Amino acid sequence: MKKLITCLVACVLSGVAFAKTWTVDDDGKADFDNIQAAVNADEPRGSIREIMPCDLGPITENRGVTWGTLWPAGTVYYDFDASISQLNRDRTRAAMDVLETATEMGTVFIPRTNEPDYIHIIEGGGNWSSVGMQGGSQNLSMYNWSYQFIICHELIHALGRLHQQSRSDRDNYITVNWECIDSNYAYNYNICGQCPNYGEYDFESVMHYSQWGFNTGCPTMTCLPGYEEFQDVMGQRDYLSNGDIETLRSMYPIQSATGACCVGTAGGCIDNLSESGCLAGSGTWHGPDSVCADGDCELSNCDGDADDSGVVDVGDILVVIDQWGLADSPADVNNDGIVNVSDLLMVIDSWGTCL
Ligand SMILES: [Zn+2]
Repeated sequence: MKKLITCLVACVLSGVAFAKTWTVDDDGKADFDNIQAAVNADEPRGSIREIMPCDLGPITENRGVTWGTLWPAGTVYYDFDASISQLNRDRTRAAMDVLETATEMGTVFIPRTNEPDYIHIIEGGGNWSSVGMQGGSQNLSMYNWSYQFIICHELIHALGRLHQQSRSDRDNYITVNWECIDSNYAYNYNICGQCPNYGEYDFESVMHYSQWGFNTGCPTMTCLPGYEEFQDVMGQRDYLSNGDIETLRSMYPIQSATGACCVGTAGGCIDNLSESGCLAGSGTWHGPDSVCADGDCELSNCDGDADDSGVVDVGDILVVIDQWGLADSPADVNNDGIVNVSDLLMVIDSWGTCL
């Protein structure tokens, strides 16, 4: 009984804070029903308004709004606070996998052993993160663990991205309704004038706030004429937009085994490593097994290049023989699940340079 009373007191107290920022059940009243909906992170999503807005903190704090230092070689070390459940650790790892895949391993998340610079993942009462690498231990707090792309959102902050609505050109796309924003959190709507913008303004970005982030009962942002269709798109947390992916790939180009990689400049960029790819001058990403030349990328025809040397030669023959009979092997060049004579024939058939 004592426990229940304590909980009620805590919930009502926290409700005072929540009521200022959320209306989650559309009944026009900020009351206990809202709090119940808001604190239950596992409740099926009915509206973006059930989600705790990500709070980057005032610019004077360590959680600053400048485009932070990037992680060397895209390698981010992390650990979890001891209080974090295995389920939530697994959820976080799954979100990291999403980002690793999206960047073609341009960013890699590795559990920390004793590395000095790392993300310490906690339950700090909300969703927030430092922007970029701070040096030493830096906290990343999760609240909405069951939303994979909210975890991605915070991890992307840690990688060095701000909110989309902080872009210097945002006033060409949206009107910020300051009177509708809780003044305690208004800094989340500040522009970062010195921060670089990448690509076009992206309403669809997983880094864009919804129109309900820290609202006081009315929409915090309104799309300008011509962009009305994005009013309810802003704040989506269901996927990475193409702009999100291209921005991350621009920030963290793929590190290939030989040091060659495409970094988004037209021309002079050749990369035919199968685990890599190209970002052409147009910003268009081309995935594995592509070559980038003349300012654009094309698929390579290099099936037999089992050792990723860029040339199909005796080295590939040796790889095939070495991995004979194995499944899931680079020597399985025809992807039939086993390395055998058919792969050897394919190597011979592809003999020569990949270009
Ligand atoms: Zn955020």
